[in-house]
Amino acid sequence: MRLRGNVAIVTGGAQGIGKATALKFAREGAKVVVCDLNADAVASTVEECRAAGGEALGFRVDVTSRASLDEMVEAVRGKYGRIDTLVNNAGITRDARLQKMTDSQFEEVIDVNLRAVFYAAQAVVDTMIEGGGGVILNASSVVGIYGNYGQTNYAATKFGVIGFTKTWSRELGPKGIRVNAVAPGFIDTPILSTVPQDVLQQMRDKVPLRRLGKPEEIADIYAFLASNEASYINGAVIEVSGGLTL
Ligand code: NAD
Repeated sequence: MRLRGNVAIVTGGAQGIGKATALKFAREGAKVVVCDLNADAVASTVEECRAAGGEALGFRVDVTSRASLDEMVEAVRGKYGRIDTLVNNAGITRDARLQKMTDSQFEEVIDVNLRAVFYAAQAVVDTMIEGGGGVILNASSVVGIYGNYGQTNYAATKFGVIGFTKTWSRELGPKGIRVNAVAPGFIDTPILSTVPQDVLQQMRDKVPLRRLGKPEEIADIYAFLASNEASYINGAVIEVSGGLTL
């Protein structure tokens, strides 16, 4: 068990990559805090973590609200007295070409994928420092390295979290906090539900492994990065795309 006793918050932890990460962390011995907008899915993910033999708490949190995040962090501090890992995973898409993108499409994605990552890191950082250190992991994307058609808003946020990662790794490294980003390729989760089947097939064809990734294949990387096995990895952007961009 690589994460025994590790108190880990996973935002957007009720579905997709976040849920797979919550389950992986629970199996690795972490005390997992599942937070998400979707309260029913939070409750079932917490149940699954417990059924897998792990310890888990659930919160309905809107990560775009500082108050909502702060309330959760206070409750976690009250229960466990520390926070070791934050997985800034919650994310959304609102795709449109530049000429068609509305202000609300732009702002919603900026709020969840970028502003909330800043809020969540601020909410936990002092507790991590008090506890002697920690790990912050940010969900970027291959779109945050190479851009993507129809994703002006999303690309800006995923480039942005790489900026956060490199800045925070410099600021917080001396305080014992490692900060890294994961840049997945196309992973088979509900976020791809709006993508037409023919486009999904084109995505598969572009990957040398000829398939989409599984959420568990990203969860494994988060677990590794949160563990002491990654003790000298800081400020890195780990691309996990099956070779998509080769
Ligand atoms: P998903 O849509 O399956 O899950 C996202 C979760 O975030 C949902 O449970 C949703 O309720 C939650 N969420 C959304 N807004 C929220 C808010 N305001 N407050 C709290 N929770 C909120 O997505 P996924 O595919 O699992 O993606 C997870 C992360 O990985 C995202 O940041 C995404 O951008 C990134 N990513 C995904 C892929 C992919 O192909 N699936 C590729 C690259 C990066």
